[in-house]
Amino acid sequence: MPEIPLSEKTLTVAGLSESDLLARIFPRLEMDARHSAATVLGPGDDAAIISASDGRTVISIDTQVQDQDFRLRWANGYHTTGFDVGWKAAAQNLSDINAMGATATSLVVSLTLPPGTLVSWVEDLADGLAAGIRELGAEECSVAGGDLGRGREISVTAAVLGTLNGGRAVLRSGARPGDVLALAGTVGHAAAGLALLESELDVHSLTPEQRALLDIQCRPQPPLWAGPLARTAGATAMLDISDGLVRDGARLAGASGAVLDLEPRELGRLGERLGPASELLGVDPLTWVLGGGEDHGLLATFPSGIQLPSGFTAIGSVQALGTTESPGVKIAGRVTGAGGWDHFAD
Ligand SMILES: [Mg+2]
Repeated sequence: MPEIPLSEKTLTVAGLSESDLLARIFPRLEMDARHSAATVLGPGDDAAIISASDGRTVISIDTQVQDQDFRLRWANGYHTTGFDVGWKAAAQNLSDINAMGATATSLVVSLTLPPGTLVSWVEDLADGLAAGIRELGAEECSVAGGDLGRGREISVTAAVLGTLNGGRAVLRSGARPGDVLALAGTVGHAAAGLALLESELDVHSLTPEQRALLDIQCRPQPPLWAGPLARTAGATAMLDISDGLVRDGARLAGASGAVLDLEPRELGRLGERLGPASELLGVDPLTWVLGGGEDHGLLATFPSGIQLPSGFTAIGSVQALGTTESPGVKIAGRVTGAGGWDHFAD
């Protein structure tokens, strides 16, 4: 590898003009070379133009703030890379489009950076964003534009557009009593990874299995193939699990006016790969399975009797509300108090 000059290693964003910094970011986002089919006009003008082929645009937005959503240095010694933050910005946003049964067409990104941020960290962020889009399989998506600004801490906001390609959207409100409740992707892995980051256990002492959980927290792997597949298979309701199975499940149950009943044996199976972190930290894997968010697995309901689409596993069922009952999540018919992450809770 060519030796990087010391001045380049220590160069901060304060040492570059906005246009110089953008000139370093754009090529890494492949913005010049690669536009999605929906991009009528890419970056370089006052605004981008994205086509909405069936007359509708699916849109979502998500923000990550330093010391709120991530730490640059964690208790266990792990340093969050720009790549991690860029990847996560892509993953979180693409997951929300997936959860509607849609396909992402473009992303726009707003970066707020303290003057002391290393330029190499920002370049790394652009690499992570591009890699997230590509490696998670959002082939029809590209970065259509963005904005740079200064602030006291790093903040990354991404907005994503998507298309339903003429199909229906899968909302949270369509679950019906008798439907099968199914999951694609994982739950609890990112929460176990977060617990490892927040522990005092040196990151370098982790086993490959423990490290894999930490990696899911830093670079989530939402099953982007699963959303459109669930829609065409006849999913009645769907959402991505960003705040925890119980908390997000309760949102779906509330929107549908029903109860979700989870199958204990399936919950145990979902926690199988959490053993290496659970033993190390002395935490019941079920805590992470029920309350852990950020894996961005898809929770969906399907009419009973249909074959579940590939990659979905049945984990419970939808039941009618009893006369005095509120919508919510149960385990084997019993109300569960396990919560997921709520940004505004104590
Ligand atoms: Mg969501």
